[in-house]
Amino acid sequence: MPGSARSQASRVFPYLILYFFLFLVLPVLLIKIGRVHLGPIFLFYCACILIATLLYKNSSTRKYQLEYRSEEFQEKINIVSDQSLQEENIAKALLTKISRYNSLKEIIEEINRDLDIDSVATSLTSIASSVITNSNCTCLLYLIDTHHQKMILIKTRKSHQTQVIKAKEGDIFDHWVMHHLNPLFIEDMKKDFRFDVEKLKAQEMRPIGSLVSAPFVSEQRFLGLLRMDSPEANVFSQDDLRLLMTVCDIGAVALENSELFKETQSLAIHDNLTQLYTKGYFMERLKEECKRAIRQAKPFSLLMLDIDFFKNYNDQFGHTAGDLVLKRLSSNITESFKDVNAVSCRFGGEEFCVILDGMDKQQATLIAEALRKRIEQEKLVLRKQETHITASIGVAAFPTDAIEQNELILKADKAMYEAKQKGRNRVVSA
Ligand code: GH3
Ligand code: MG
Ligand code: MG
Repeated sequence: MPGSARSQASRVFPYLILYFFLFLVLPVLLIKIGRVHLGPIFLFYCACILIATLLYKNSSTRKYQLEYRSEEFQEKINIVSDQSLQEENIAKALLTKISRYNSLKEIIEEINRDLDIDSVATSLTSIASSVITNSNCTCLLYLIDTHHQKMILIKTRKSHQTQVIKAKEGDIFDHWVMHHLNPLFIEDMKKDFRFDVEKLKAQEMRPIGSLVSAPFVSEQRFLGLLRMDSPEANVFSQDDLRLLMTVCDIGAVALENSELFKETQSLAIHDNLTQLYTKGYFMERLKEECKRAIRQAKPFSLLMLDIDFFKNYNDQFGHTAGDLVLKRLSSNITESFKDVNAVSCRFGGEEFCVILDGMDKQQATLIAEALRKRIEQEKLVLRKQETHITASIGVAAFPTDAIEQNELILKADKAMYEAKQKGRNRVVSA
């Protein structure tokens, strides 16, 4: 028996004994001892029945009132518990939001410290994939190629490894974001009439049901975009788009920082006039090349080139024309070695050095001879006058002529000096 029922029974039991004594035992006793007549007893019973009926009626009205009030209370309880459930859900959503923003903050601080464009792009896609959680999503990051003014797919996080992204230069959605410089939200592709689905099929084979995309913009300049798409409809929310926009706003700063850093780095290692490497950077590379050649037991060669009688050329045609010649010669060097593994630098005023990786002295001498001829045959028209230059080239090889960078430079320089001595416009090997 449950505890409450037992305690109720123990409470009622004394009353039952009292009523039994009052209404049955006492009247019978009174009649038996002859103190009371039957008439008053009958009247007493009638009065008791009347009182009991009245009491019963009163109690049933009260019972009904109580039931009504209890229903009212129950209704109120239901409303309050509904409200508390709603509030609990709101609190849960807020906690999720807070944790998403916290992780976003941490990773963003990290990418702002990063200056390498590739690792910034990797971080941005992983941030987007972790804060906009859907396992079946594909995340794409495009950056603008400023030289060719087109978008290039830089990073992908695919839902399936086998998935093929066909639109390497972006599809209709990416071009929309690029032209409008605005975020794009497609809840359900089938219900969105802004885009031509047939055109999309020609650009991308993957099914796209919904997507969110936001641009990286800095001072009205489009740097690229970050996009998440899913084959299913109604996958993303306005909240997801807001988060993606936050990632892109901060990502734009990080991308621009890394772009600036790249430019600064490039300025430090490239010569202003010729765009070839500077002597400082070249010496570092030469040192590394020596170590690598020893490690891999592979030869490499060094060319030292100097323009013949360049002082006279400057005197005759002016310094600006001389600069033009230096630029043209640098392009010739780059062009000549584009198919081989070469590192070219402007070593001094009109002196150039080239590392030819993996080439022995014989191969290097042949390739140097081809360059010499190319320079000799090049025409430069100045004030309607055809001008020419020639160059003397010295060749030295590692490890045949030297096993250390300074000694190798000395050997190549000596060979070049010998070429000058022998009448210029020639190649001499050490
Ligand atoms: P050689 O055949 O013996 O090398 O004769 P050269 O006249 O080339 O030799 P020299 O080293 O005496 O002269 C180098 C000249 O290169 C001197 C300088 O006017 C010129 N020069 C060096 N740097 C630059 C430059 O940046 N621009 C121009 N226009 N000329 C430069
Ligand atoms: Mg010189
Ligand atoms: Mg010279």
